[in-house]
Amino acid sequence: MTGFELVVRSRRTVTPEGERAVAVAVRGEKIAGLHDYDALLDTAEDIDLRDLALLPGLVDTHVHVNEPGRTHWEGFDSATRAAAAGGVTTILDMPLNSLPPTVTVAAFEEKLRAAGGQCHVDVGFWGGAVPGNVKDLAPLRARGVHGFKCFMSPSGVEEFPPLAPAELRRALKEIAGFGGVMVVHAEDPALLGEPGGPTYREFLESRPGASERSAVRQVVELAGETGARVHILHVSSADCLDVLEAARADGVAVTAETCPHYLTLTAEQVPEGETAYKCCPPIRSEDNRDLLWDGLGRGVLSCVVSDHSPSTAELKVPDFAAAWGGIASLQLGLAAIWTEAVGRGYGLPDVVRWMSANPASIAEISGKGAIKPGNDADLVAFDPYVDNFVDASLLHHKNPVTPYHGRTLRGAVLTTWLRGRPVDGVPHGRFLLGEQ
Ligand SMILES: [Zn+2]
Repeated sequence: MTGFELVVRSRRTVTPEGERAVAVAVRGEKIAGLHDYDALLDTAEDIDLRDLALLPGLVDTHVHVNEPGRTHWEGFDSATRAAAAGGVTTILDMPLNSLPPTVTVAAFEEKLRAAGGQCHVDVGFWGGAVPGNVKDLAPLRARGVHGFKCFMSPSGVEEFPPLAPAELRRALKEIAGFGGVMVVHAEDPALLGEPGGPTYREFLESRPGASERSAVRQVVELAGETGARVHILHVSSADCLDVLEAARADGVAVTAETCPHYLTLTAEQVPEGETAYKCCPPIRSEDNRDLLWDGLGRGVLSCVVSDHSPSTAELKVPDFAAAWGGIASLQLGLAAIWTEAVGRGYGLPDVVRWMSANPASIAEISGKGAIKPGNDADLVAFDPYVDNFVDASLLHHKNPVTPYHGRTLRGAVLTTWLRGRPVDGVPHGRFLLGEQ
């Protein structure tokens, strides 16, 4: 047998069996085998991380890249550089904020053309479900989207309208017919208001947890009725947890995610006028945050993904009623979550489950999400001990706006390998097209 191209050794390699002292051997873009940490191996390159951690590349299934059409907000080059720098080796792009939104095969082709040759990590895509495009869902699936996203309340951009309950039912029926998944922005518009003024308190009051809870109830009911698999995006209110648990106990195929900002930031800390913190649904109270951690620990929430949704600084006016709602954090999610997880007694295997294995499984991305033989050699050398001061202007995000600016996080990514080669400024990312 010929030698390996790369061996990476770490006493803290996170494998599906937990943290182990292992040497990961790579051949032909894949993980060829896991060996004893100090095994003698014939390899072109041999890297020993000692007590630094080796993680599988993270899989972030909730990223708004915004190209084509709003490339000044973010684009494939900047987004995927940021991803790699943050330990993310696979992103799934959301169908909106780009123009056109990914709601037809023609629009999807435009996006693929725009992204081509620019991706520093592997990239897959969600399609969009909007009023009137039920007929486009099967063709989009055939062309390779991993599933479909819809809104129940206004999305923030007029070209991507929400589905009314009857439309959601029709779309779910269609998706159930071919075994796909619908990912849902679940806020009930009937329970949303307009902010009474520019403060954070007024914004928060306009989007109560009851709105999320009501929407999640409707989604799981329709999922149960149609047999469709559903995934609830960015759960911010702990009021949803018991609804999710009950639905799962009833056999409904429902999963749910939350985001680093809901798990690390709180409404109490939001400085007045600092609309880098504005997102929908909103960051809620400290007590609510603790309950979300509890839901994550119990597996009611199974994924932590960024919902990276940047805009230009000009749209982040210091008025919570008027500012663009979206938080930029793609490069920072791992460090933000690790910082908070350590204090709550969680380990790297938990973080990897939430940020790599489970998102890969929910979006049906094969060959990713775990350090195991046969998988792509997507690897991240992570220093879990170091202080990491965040200066927004030094991030690869196109616009230097993030609520983590000025914070000191714990942990930093040292090297990211995509299919066995270090991400080095030359775009080697590929498209991950689903079932075709
Ligand atoms: Zn989003």
